[in-house]
Amino acid sequence: MEAQMEQIIAKISTLQTLQEVENLRVEIMGKKGILTQQFAELKNLPDEQKKIQAKILNTFKQEFESKLIEKKESLFTAQMNENLSKEAIDASLFSALRPKSSGHPIYQTMDRIIDFFVNMNFSIQSGPLVEDDFHNFEALNLPKFHPARDMQDTFYFKDSMLLRTHTSPVQIRTMEKDSLPIRMIAPGSVFRRDYDLTHSPMFHQVEGLVVDKKDSISFSHLKYILEDFLHFMFGDVKIRFRSSFFPFTEPSAEVDISCVFCKGEGCRVCSHTGWLEVLGCGIVNDKVFESVGYKDVSGYAFGLGVERFAMLIHRVNDLRSFFETDLRVLEQF
Ligand SMILES: [Zn+2]
Repeated sequence: MEAQMEQIIAKISTLQTLQEVENLRVEIMGKKGILTQQFAELKNLPDEQKKIQAKILNTFKQEFESKLIEKKESLFTAQMNENLSKEAIDASLFSALRPKSSGHPIYQTMDRIIDFFVNMNFSIQSGPLVEDDFHNFEALNLPKFHPARDMQDTFYFKDSMLLRTHTSPVQIRTMEKDSLPIRMIAPGSVFRRDYDLTHSPMFHQVEGLVVDKKDSISFSHLKYILEDFLHFMFGDVKIRFRSSFFPFTEPSAEVDISCVFCKGEGCRVCSHTGWLEVLGCGIVNDKVFESVGYKDVSGYAFGLGVERFAMLIHRVNDLRSFFETDLRVLEQF
């Protein structure tokens, strides 16, 4: 018996998992365990021997239990450390995309948009503000002299470099570096030569792109996620899709919500239509996929202006109040 006891004690140090620890405990001290049986057999021994044997068994029991508890604790700690390192969160990940003081209404709105899509399992991508012609226009089916280029009054540098006019080049750059499936949003600032009640030369967009194998993505997927998103942002509004034209999507749609000012009855803000346009979307044009060398894929894309969302959420009618850094105005949000 003593040799067997030594073997059992030695075995404890070889155990790898909490389950193995439990198995050994049952094997030795369970109802039918070796030690339990030994204790039961004590009654058959003559008195003198019983005393000696009981002492041996109790000493073994104490050692066995304390070694087993020690092992259990060390395995438990190791497993917890492993879980903690697997589930570690890199808290610095978002800080490159948004400033720390996110009290500004534009960034509050941007954060809310990002929250929705991160919960929907979209990744966040970013790209350079100074872009080349290929990523900003050509790859997006906007060749030179395309009329749609005029709609985006561009700030140019030398050598056909420019300030990006939309966040769409990030979609091109993501497709160039990543493989399928792609499920991303690109939040960021963009630049156009425009300044009035509803336009600012620097403003913010969020664009989204989902790409997967051919025929796996349809317009109904796009419709489903955007309806969910708009209800998340604006609450109980009506939503309608109108067919439209964008060079990078085919078919394309513009999406309206029922006017948040007049609840759809018609007012000055919605030009008495009861509807407000909030974003553009569509099924990605095959020409865009060709420009990045993708074959046999399908996808949808959408884009929205963060300022417009902030204006509608906060019922602000002059965009410039967001940028004038007048604290009396900003403190109201
Ligand atoms: Zn209205």
